[in-house]
Amino acid sequence: MVSAAAPQVVPENLVIVGSGPAGYTAAIYAARANLSPVLITGFQAGGIAGGQLMTTTDVENFPGFPDGILGPDLMDRMRAQAVRWGTRLIEADADAIDLGQRPYRLTVEGQVIETQALILATGASANRLGLPHEQDFWSRGISACAICDGATPQFRNAELAVVGGGDSACEEAVYLTKYGSQVHLIVRRDVLRASKAMADRVLANPAISVHWNQDLVDVAGGDWLETVQLRHTSTGQEETLAVKGLFYAIGHTPNTGLVAGQIELDGQGYLQVRSGRPETSVDGVFAAGDVADTEWRQGITAAGSGCQAALAAERWLTHHDLAITVSHDPVDPAPAGEPVPVPTSDEANYDPSALWQKGGYALRKLYHDCDKPLLVVYSSPSCGPCHVLKPQLKRVLQDFGGAAQGVEIDIETDQAIAEQAGVTGTPTVQLFFRKELKQQFKGVKQRSEFKAAIEALL
Ligand code: NDP
Repeated sequence: MVSAAAPQVVPENLVIVGSGPAGYTAAIYAARANLSPVLITGFQAGGIAGGQLMTTTDVENFPGFPDGILGPDLMDRMRAQAVRWGTRLIEADADAIDLGQRPYRLTVEGQVIETQALILATGASANRLGLPHEQDFWSRGISACAICDGATPQFRNAELAVVGGGDSACEEAVYLTKYGSQVHLIVRRDVLRASKAMADRVLANPAISVHWNQDLVDVAGGDWLETVQLRHTSTGQEETLAVKGLFYAIGHTPNTGLVAGQIELDGQGYLQVRSGRPETSVDGVFAAGDVADTEWRQGITAAGSGCQAALAAERWLTHHDLAITVSHDPVDPAPAGEPVPVPTSDEANYDPSALWQKGGYALRKLYHDCDKPLLVVYSSPSCGPCHVLKPQLKRVLQDFGGAAQGVEIDIETDQAIAEQAGVTGTPTVQLFFRKELKQQFKGVKQRSEFKAAIEALL
């Protein structure tokens, strides 16, 4: 008897893991070189898809944007450019990477993808302090992202603290002066690590008080954070600061867990590369961005290294005669165009059957009249995780084909609604059914979680 042969799986030319400036730039170059790359965006592991610029406000030093651009908007553009040229996106976390033999094997949502070449652009994750009561107040006063959570009602006109002395800490301290009455910057040394321009901005701002040589030792409060405990690094003297918000900006750890033990890492866990080169210790595996950068860590340097990694991967594939290129139409792909914002609903344009609407008017109408499951997403304009989550929620609603609806509330515009709903950070999603709150989700969650929650109501 002749048994049917297992279908032959053709390995990909190139898989890129990571969707910050490094990953998307690598994808743009590889796609334009007709390599038809696959880009695994990441979802929750190692920070949100789009990388660290998703949790930044104005990026003023990325060339080409003389008036600056919001970090999430910059990432949306890079993503659109990568997709326009034929990058295939997988919006999920890579669960495993096997570099034992070529083609290399990646596991994503239970599926195995084989690839000849691989670019690791997995970036770095925000560090936490690990204070004794940190977990008790996480998202109830403590946040790793001032830009995402600063507009939360509890922080308005309250005293707030930021810990750290780098550019992120300074940027966040300045940003939080928009919302808090006073911002305390807690610095463990007697100098700021931040660039001079950023440090000067902080030191000149009367709404920011810097607490030098202070370790943050613990936090306390009731339902919400009330105080932080400081200890002077040389005298040991303790001090209690009354604050309603504490924002971490204490650096990052490279996301190399999936390849640890299979590839050379340096003492801090960064991918080991020769200075200025993308090649790692494994043939055909290239590094791009912060995952291999202990020094520069800028959006533009990450983008530059993504370009290098793609060119190196292309040369390597060609040299080994491994590339199976796709041919593109002789005409350029259609322009990606500008993103179209969702208009805020009012009496004139409210549509009772629309899958997705925006604003307090739509919420009130749907809350009272809609007899389907209703997803209410609370977001803020500069919240990068909200940028990631909203398209996912829209996909969930599309999958239900109108059996559930969604409404988006901007907590800056609709402060009173957010306060009444008890929103403590963005994104927050509340699932209502027949005027009853059924479930609440804080932060970015998998589509499957929302699907299951809606399905349970149908
Ligand atoms: P950094 O690593 O530059 O700074 C981390 C800061 O946190 C340091 O001041 C460090 O103190 C402090 N820190 C670390 N651990 C602790 C701890 N356990 N307790 C108290 N303090 C601690 O990280 P950033 O995220 O600020 O910046 C990363 C990169 O991104 C940098 O290259 C920066 O230039 C860049 N960036 C640029 C921006 C811009 O140009 N607009 C904005 C934001 C970031 P110490 O100094 O004592 O080590």
